[in-house]
Amino acid sequence: MNDPNQISAARDKLLFTPGPLTTSLSVKQAMLHDAGSWHWEFNNLVGQLRQELLQQAGLSREKGFELVFMQGSGSFGVEAMLGSAVPPDGKLLLLANGTYGERMVAMAEYLKIPSTVIRSSEDQTPDLDEIDRTLESDPAITHLASVHCETTTGLLNPIEKIGQVVKKHQCIYLVDAMSSFGGMPIDFDEAGIDYLVSSPNKCFEGVPGFSFIFARRDLLVASEGNARSLCLDLLAQWKCFEGNGQFRYTPPTHSILAFAQAIREMEEEGGIKARTARYASNHRALMKGMKRLGFKSYLDASVQSDIITSFHFPKDPKFNFQEFYRSLSDKGFIIYPGKISQADTFRIGSIGRIFPADIDALLAAIARTIEELDISLQA
Ligand SMILES: *Cc1c(COP(=O)(O)O)cnc(C)c1O
Repeated sequence: MNDPNQISAARDKLLFTPGPLTTSLSVKQAMLHDAGSWHWEFNNLVGQLRQELLQQAGLSREKGFELVFMQGSGSFGVEAMLGSAVPPDGKLLLLANGTYGERMVAMAEYLKIPSTVIRSSEDQTPDLDEIDRTLESDPAITHLASVHCETTTGLLNPIEKIGQVVKKHQCIYLVDAMSSFGGMPIDFDEAGIDYLVSSPNKCFEGVPGFSFIFARRDLLVASEGNARSLCLDLLAQWKCFEGNGQFRYTPPTHSILAFAQAIREMEEEGGIKARTARYASNHRALMKGMKRLGFKSYLDASVQSDIITSFHFPKDPKFNFQEFYRSLSDKGFIIYPGKISQADTFRIGSIGRIFPADIDALLAAIARTIEELDISLQA
């Protein structure tokens, strides 16, 4: 007979993480099918999703933009974008104020793309004058890449203001909006964005398996011969979608089926605008509740996104993150460790199929946990 302790709960633990995230039951159910990767039904769906994503972004093919899916996690998409956009004689300016900015720096090194880095501290946005001066003094720079929401901390980089400096110097602008696209409005025109990469398993509330890259068609077409990797060649992948409608190599069929449902649910909710509002409510409830409990957030409110928030460890030496984490997990709530080099923090995400009531439930569990572990939160 089955051990009753081995029968899993009907409900998964709620994820308060930067992704993969809690998804709806219907998104999970959409994956209970087998799709033929060569079959027109599946490839029509892929074509339709490319179109719908352009619409969600306020773009269109008439406006000169294309959408390319790329297999793999989000980083594969970032690497495909960097490795395909910058020509052999190009040079990249990278902005780094967290793990994901630093990951692009590492990618540029692996890909042997000549690059310069402007680093700022993990709680600060980059200095716009320094970007301006760097682009002024180094005319070899052809491209600039920036992270939008630095998921390391939850910091929001001002991609519109950065974009204006990039355009002043007629450079090409690449944006990693992995954790923000879908969860806040992004104006491609105003920011002058040429390429932008994001993923289905963050604010679109789908599951992992691929990333998607928006690209200006004229730049994409002119990028022939740039790619430094066979599999991550953005132009070759796009040509396949345009040619026979297929992914170049095996597509993540189940993730695509889940994504089709996730986009439908995004539309039913009221699009990016409504989702932005829900995440903002989640974040407000979180900040208010954590403050009441005595926790302090790491970032200044002026640079804090509604996506994910870093909190300082309590000063009480009795606080042990592993213990705290485990106790919350036992109660059905998964939070996230910190990633900041300069401070001891943990993170709580506000994105995914979660609502202010779920944040309240998390806050109640945190209150019980600090009581059980006898943690003092007096400053
Ligand atoms: C999640 C994320 C990525 C991609 O990470 P993967 O683990 O490769 O999916 C890249 N940039 C940012 C800003 C992210 O939040």
